[in-house]
Amino acid sequence: MERKTRVLITGGAGFIGSHLAELLLKKGYAVTIIDDLSTGKFANIAHLQNQADFQFVIDSIMNEMVLDRVVSMCDVIIHLAAAVGVKLIVEKPVHTIETNVVGTMKVLQAAVRYRVKVLIASTSEVYGKGNHIPFKEDDDVVLGPTTRSRWSYAASKMIDEFLALSYAHEKDIPIAILRLFNTIGPRQTGQYGMVVPRFIHQALSGEPLTVYGDGSQSRCFLHVNDAVQAIGTVAESAQAIGEVLNVGSTEEITIKDLANLVLTIRDQHFAHRLKKLARLSNEIVYIPYEEAYISGFEDMQRRVPDISKIGKIVGWKPKWTLRQSIEDIMNANLAERVQDNR
Ligand code: UDP
Repeated sequence: MERKTRVLITGGAGFIGSHLAELLLKKGYAVTIIDDLSTGKFANIAHLQNQADFQFVIDSIMNEMVLDRVVSMCDVIIHLAAAVGVKLIVEKPVHTIETNVVGTMKVLQAAVRYRVKVLIASTSEVYGKGNHIPFKEDDDVVLGPTTRSRWSYAASKMIDEFLALSYAHEKDIPIAILRLFNTIGPRQTGQYGMVVPRFIHQALSGEPLTVYGDGSQSRCFLHVNDAVQAIGTVAESAQAIGEVLNVGSTEEITIKDLANLVLTIRDQHFAHRLKKLARLSNEIVYIPYEEAYISGFEDMQRRVPDISKIGKIVGWKPKWTLRQSIEDIMNANLAERVQDNR
């Protein structure tokens, strides 16, 4: 029997990784996940456990022996393991820098030993304070001062990109870098600060929605199904090798409008499923940044990707609208509540 191509997903029990594992198994790949369950959750991948081609290793990518073993058995690595979420990053900068830089170095070193292709997940954070919208992959980058800890995340991911490009050049391994913009979908937790799961949770629980600052800052939110399609397609593409590619939605919305949209969608489509709540709050509260985050925080006013490059190279573009994405997450969220109440 022909051996299946095996993909190793680091951080595969996380929000994006678990959706990616699902997609790759559906496409006929064998999948190994390594995850230390620091921000990932076993529940995210529990439904995949009984599939013959699925393997789950609970460990950190910092454990070189284990990492070496899983890399030796795979054909492609998709490196998603990282410290994520603005909240975590601001609160634990040492952990962020170490996990991101040292972790990626270990993954690349193992890839060199076994001559394996690596996809590195980077982030739109690397565009820093850029105000030349939309962000293009070869734009110059301006970060804030080192005394503001938020920027350590961007800097650590930039080092990851430099490392990957240098390993590709000096050690001759195939790599590609994906700069993921704000991604949303079922299973994403608001625990680490992400705005969409937080607003949806607040709206469905009858709590006021917490807009930080004046809400004029904007983002583009991509459904995770679109994000994993992009990752899967890039992993299969020979043309994408050596490239840095933006992955994101281009549908821009201010955070204030997002709060209103979440409330509108809830009232239009989901209010009848929330009868148990005595009162559905429509309240939006504005919280100054100094109160929302500990000091050292600077927000980004706008963040919009230029996605023409990935479109040209692998023919990818998003399919989900923001409205559809919010409806999908609300649906999943309510289904989960019903299950929890059983
Ligand atoms: N935000 C907000 N209320 C929240 C959480 C976040 O207004 O409860 C804002 C946050 O300040 C930022 C935007 O929403 O301007 C997106 O935040 P997130 O942490 O989701 O992503 P990132 O800042 O990395 O784009």
